[in-house]
Amino acid sequence: MRSPATTRAILKTLRAQYPDADTELNYATPFELLVATILSAQSTDAGVNRVTPSLFKRYPDAASLAKAKAADLEPLIHATGFFRSKARSLMGMAQALVERHGGKVPKSMEALVELPGVGRKTANVVLGHALGVPGLPVDRHVLRVSNRLGVAASDDPVAVEQRLTKVLPPEDWTKTSDTLILHGRRICKPNPVCEMCSVRDECEFYRKR
Ligand code: SF4
Repeated sequence: MRSPATTRAILKTLRAQYPDADTELNYATPFELLVATILSAQSTDAGVNRVTPSLFKRYPDAASLAKAKAADLEPLIHATGFFRSKARSLMGMAQALVERHGGKVPKSMEALVELPGVGRKTANVVLGHALGVPGLPVDRHVLRVSNRLGVAASDDPVAVEQRLTKVLPPEDWTKTSDTLILHGRRICKPNPVCEMCSVRDECEFYRKR
């Protein structure tokens, strides 16, 4: 695995390739981003963005979503897949927000992961983008790209999160995750387009190819 200094240098160069890196989910409030991120499991961000305008109009906050009926909610999110379990998660999450947090999205990892349907990745997305708390979400793109570059060496998302957050300053966490996700979607795909990669000369995967 690369040294902390080399890891920081590689990721700095890669961030420069994606100066506008950000989540591609549309949202206006922490609640909306939490809902959109739960819906994004096994779905594309574009697919989620297609259903959320009518969803947020009908259920603009935790109080309204907590009172939703599955029969009303499920058709609105059907297109994102796994709509029954997602509906259960959304209603349970909203009820927990109302009961435990006054309807507000809490600003801590510990409280977020106690909500139905919310794991570390979802919590980090919301913390880092909507709540001003550093978070480094690790999805399959972050896993693939970071292992190929040698800046992490594990298939375990928590281990990769720990490695990257240990060597990077907190202010770089969320942007680095957004960068690795975009790089994984556009260039460092399962079949990568290495000719377009700004960190090719540093990449262990590329050298071995
Ligand atoms: S050189 Fe290729 S494999 Fe390595 S990070 Fe870049 S795109 Fe991915």
